[in-house]
Amino acid sequence: MTNYISSPVVPSLVALQELTWFNPKKVGFDDVQTTLSLQMSDILEASDRLTRFAPYLAQVFPETAATNGIIESELKAIPVMQQALLEEAEGRLSGRLLLKCDNQLPIAGSIKARGGIYEVLLHAERLALANGLLQTSDDYRILDSTSFRDLYSKHQIVVGSTGNLGLSIGIMSAKLGFDVTVHMSSDAREWKKALLKSKGVNVVEHSADYGVAVEQGRQEAQQKDTAYFIDDEDSTSLFLGYSVAALRLQKQLVEQGILVDSEHPLFVYLPCGVGGAPGGITFGLKQVFGDHVHCFFAEPTHSPCMLLGMETGLHNAISVQELGIDNLTCADGLAVGRPSAFVGPMMDSLLSGVYTVSDSTMYRHLAMLVDSENIPVEPSAAAGFSGVLRILSEGRDYQTTHQLEDKMSQATHIIWATGGDMVPKEERAMYYQQGKAFI
Ligand SMILES: *Cc1c(COP(=O)(O)O)cnc(C)c1O
Repeated sequence: MTNYISSPVVPSLVALQELTWFNPKKVGFDDVQTTLSLQMSDILEASDRLTRFAPYLAQVFPETAATNGIIESELKAIPVMQQALLEEAEGRLSGRLLLKCDNQLPIAGSIKARGGIYEVLLHAERLALANGLLQTSDDYRILDSTSFRDLYSKHQIVVGSTGNLGLSIGIMSAKLGFDVTVHMSSDAREWKKALLKSKGVNVVEHSADYGVAVEQGRQEAQQKDTAYFIDDEDSTSLFLGYSVAALRLQKQLVEQGILVDSEHPLFVYLPCGVGGAPGGITFGLKQVFGDHVHCFFAEPTHSPCMLLGMETGLHNAISVQELGIDNLTCADGLAVGRPSAFVGPMMDSLLSGVYTVSDSTMYRHLAMLVDSENIPVEPSAAAGFSGVLRILSEGRDYQTTHQLEDKMSQATHIIWATGGDMVPKEERAMYYQQGKAFI
């Protein structure tokens, strides 16, 4: 008998209940650090690469000029939203609440501007180095020239996406001059496809979900030696691009005078699709803060692929569809039925837990965020808010195990808002209306 049948959690997943799962395999960071397949040195290498490209990015994407070509988002207090959540939590909410505004990341308007853009830059750098056009000591603004665009136009980049990864990879690849194709799943929004087409990206539309779009992309890329497939289901490069966020966050916390140590725990709530973005950030945060950081993933009740994979130990060998769960959700960025091949196994020892959120909860928090702080996000990006309430109401045992009870009033909670800035006005209004119906 397969082990998932005996899991007590699976029936609740199948019943599409909102639930909170604490990871029984998590261990102290010192016990696993040296056994991980990636290390802090890998994050630093990715960070250095982004620094090399910064002058180029500042030149070709003027919206990044103010930060000298570094793609980063604000970390900010949301006092009015905190008050609104406090009411929802019936007064239990203590500590500081901050929003990490990846919904406003330049170029792609979502968290994918971290990993997606990073992997394209990595590939572009390798090609230029191999062709003798570039040295790592050069001023990378030279990439903004015909000789580089000629080189890249002879190379293809291919990716499968539910929308946002396609946006970040399509926009970045097209800017460099690559011949880029994005395979879009059925849930990808029309405006995302239209935007990409307007930038000269080839868009292939599929009537099936994310897994199929990725598979079609993989097959297309295999036909050509000059094609490079960005594999969202199994890419350490994407993962490392995301992980750099941890170094940046550390700096922002220091600048804001916020302590993270044994007396001041940090809780981070990360919406999860295939797992690359939240996994990379968790990996980075554990490297920086060790046991002082507690990372939780948020998944739609209709797409709980990471929870299912980690709970059963089957990881990418099982999909939610195999249990009859439909993978249909308003959170298009999280509509993934099967988790990444390597993220889940790495999260086994690092992640604190996963909780699931219904579409109505995401819509409700989306509308509350507009009403309270006037910040528009997309539904996926609103999945983080429930986390803080869940951990305070259902995390008693977790708090005891980690000796956190008397430290919760000194805790910092960071909700990672993962996307929304590029959503057209009419769609924004629709999201808001949907959300108002649930308040
Ligand atoms: C892609 C995405 C996520 C999750 O990232 P994964 O790497 O798929 O886990 C979260 N929020 C938004 C808005 C996204 O587009």
